[in-house]
Amino acid sequence: MEKWKTQVLPPDEENIRLAAELLQQGEVVGIPTETVYGLGANAFDVDAVAKIFAAKGRPGDNPLIVHIASMDMLAPLTVDVPELAYRLAEKFWPGPMTMILPKSDRIPNEVSAGLSTVGIRFPSHPVAKRLIEAAGLPIAAPSGNLSGHPSPTTAGHMLHDMDTRIPMIIDGGACTVGLESTVILVKEDRVRLLRPGGVTVEMMEEICPVEIDDGVLHSVAENEKVASPGMKYRHYAPVAEVTIVEGSLPAFRAFVDSQKGEGVYAVVFNGEESDMPVPALSFGMEDQPEAQAHLLFDLLRQCDELGAKKVFVRSPDRHGIGLAVYNRLLRAAAFHIVKLEG
Ligand code: AMP
Ligand code: MG
Repeated sequence: MEKWKTQVLPPDEENIRLAAELLQQGEVVGIPTETVYGLGANAFDVDAVAKIFAAKGRPGDNPLIVHIASMDMLAPLTVDVPELAYRLAEKFWPGPMTMILPKSDRIPNEVSAGLSTVGIRFPSHPVAKRLIEAAGLPIAAPSGNLSGHPSPTTAGHMLHDMDTRIPMIIDGGACTVGLESTVILVKEDRVRLLRPGGVTVEMMEEICPVEIDDGVLHSVAENEKVASPGMKYRHYAPVAEVTIVEGSLPAFRAFVDSQKGEGVYAVVFNGEESDMPVPALSFGMEDQPEAQAHLLFDLLRQCDELGAKKVFVRSPDRHGIGLAVYNRLLRAAAFHIVKLEG
């Protein structure tokens, strides 16, 4: 892999032009979006796409999402798009929703990991939009972290993982959503949720029925065939062992007390930190899942900076974007849950 002096640059016209030129030349660029930072390359260029997999250390069987900046860019990438997809696009694009659709021949197998479908998203972040327009290309981009690490929600996070691996990161500020996009398989009359995100089940149910794939809340065996290959990997994980703890605040406090020791941390809701028996990090208000989504990956990275060995996390509510928060925590915890009485 080539060694770069990775530059983090503000999103002015000149830098957008430089980034667009790099994309046109087959290089990989760090791109801010409203979900997380992405590692973008020309989706039509197999050599450029190979650089994404190399920079991340991503397994080749995990497909990439292709990013567009107008509805006109959709047709050449797909075939037989169900009418429902247009209705969903009208409601939720630009925004944090990825639709899995039958792919056209123009999408290389390297992007779709050999599948006959491709994930397409139209991001709402103005810098992502300007960059895709300036490059004049659909941009394949996974999250800009090393494979397995928490996704980057700031340019600093991305530099931490990608320093020397890519030439440039455009700094568009902290990501507003803070979790990766909602991924749905679009059928004729319904959708199947493969990964929860900022466009919630409740929001989509206003348009059509939503089936929740088993992989959203359950672990998938290494050799099992899954609808969304990304769901089978341990993910979003700090070095520390993460455990989700279900139960009341007093039960949580007593449990953590029984576990205390060097490197043991608690992740709790705002206002609960002060009387914890171990150092505690706050996770946002209990009834504000948007704030939890925004904070989660930064918090998981902080655990590493603190040298945490074990992290016990209060179990979040699963409504709205809370389902996405819980889904990411489940993977960070490798599905390790403790259920307390009371
Ligand atoms: P990331 O690139 O890190 O945001 O992850 C992309 C997610 O979308 C992974 O979980 C992939 O498995 C999923 N994905 C992308 N393309 C497809 C596809 N064609 N079919 C099913 N899942 C997909
Ligand atoms: Mg990812």
